[in-house]
Amino acid sequence: MKEVYLDNAATTAIDPEVKQAVITSFQDCLGNPSSIHHYGRKSREAVETNREWVAKLLGAKTDEIVFTSGGTESDNLAILGLLKPGDHVITSTIEHHAVMNTCKHAEEDGAEVTSVPVDGRGLIDPADVKRALRPNTRLITIMLANNETGVIQPVEEIGKIATEADVYFHTDAVQAAAKIPVDVNKIGCDLLTISGHKIHAPQGIGALYVRKATMLEPLLHGGRHERSRRAGTENVAGIVGLGKAAELAMAAFERGLDGTMALLRDRLETGLLAAIEAAGVNGEGASRVPNTSNIYFDYIEGEAMVIALDLKGLAVSTGAACSSGAIEPSHVLTAMGLRPERARASIRFSLGKQNTAADIDFALNLVPETVARLRELSPLWKPVRTL
Ligand code: PLP
Repeated sequence: MKEVYLDNAATTAIDPEVKQAVITSFQDCLGNPSSIHHYGRKSREAVETNREWVAKLLGAKTDEIVFTSGGTESDNLAILGLLKPGDHVITSTIEHHAVMNTCKHAEEDGAEVTSVPVDGRGLIDPADVKRALRPNTRLITIMLANNETGVIQPVEEIGKIATEADVYFHTDAVQAAAKIPVDVNKIGCDLLTISGHKIHAPQGIGALYVRKATMLEPLLHGGRHERSRRAGTENVAGIVGLGKAAELAMAAFERGLDGTMALLRDRLETGLLAAIEAAGVNGEGASRVPNTSNIYFDYIEGEAMVIALDLKGLAVSTGAACSSGAIEPSHVLTAMGLRPERARASIRFSLGKQNTAADIDFALNLVPETVARLRELSPLWKPVRTL
């Protein structure tokens, strides 16, 4: 059976070159990067060379990159590392749980939280962010690209607001890095999160960009690793993988891979919407990262659709992987104003760099017939054309 993976926003397959670099590092980097003998120095060199690649990908300085265990840890470090009881943080209603629940945790510890809304396209209005500022606002944390819809937020405008108000700005760029060019200075952020497994590097490695002179309380206490920002022996193999993935992502931008991916995504969207009635794109009208398409197919249950497609060899998702199986409809889609039934009838298709036109054709063949079959089972479904 042919198998096609279109769930790259959940996690990506390791790039073969990344895999090779990781395997080589397991063989070559035997030492602890903190050891002073030659084994240690070799591991240290691997860590620092790859820190440079990650910094380059983000337009940052090498010593502004802190390696972490992934996006969740980076988000926690950015938010909890800055907030103290009595501080105010501005976030949004569509953040990933790694930000949303971290803000909730800070609130339980005495911080004040304001969540700004989004419009029907899933876009935050920077004016709402400005209006939410208070004298005790310490941090704005608003994502760069949404993990369910791919919608890109106006982070440069938000960055300007943060600078003018002298407030820290963190952006979760987990779904944006390596999909669109990301430059910390253009954005004007002080902190920025990325995760390895969304960019064809291994799971369990990530990074936080921390602008020089940002006072950040570490989450983990121990040795003086990562300039005392994150204690613990470095994940050398993971770092090598992340660095290689960053290097490859930069080369891919130069080859125009983001444009090729957008064409494939558009072909998928156009084809599905032409073949299936009572369907539409969530986030239509907003700029989106080139790999993500979130589509509602009214009168189906998203979870049933994911299972039915999986049985036929197509892997997609109902939204955030960590909320799969949850009965609640997506908080992102409901924040955009979708009624719960439509939010539950939405499917996220997300491409990776390994996907081909043949993969899109496979989905274009399979999805319409699956939607039709599931709708047959729905007591509410009446084909629009026969009405
Ligand atoms: N932030 C966003 C926007 C994400 O999509 C994810 C993962 O889905 C995370 C954070 C968490 O990253 P990680 O899985 O590396 O902890």
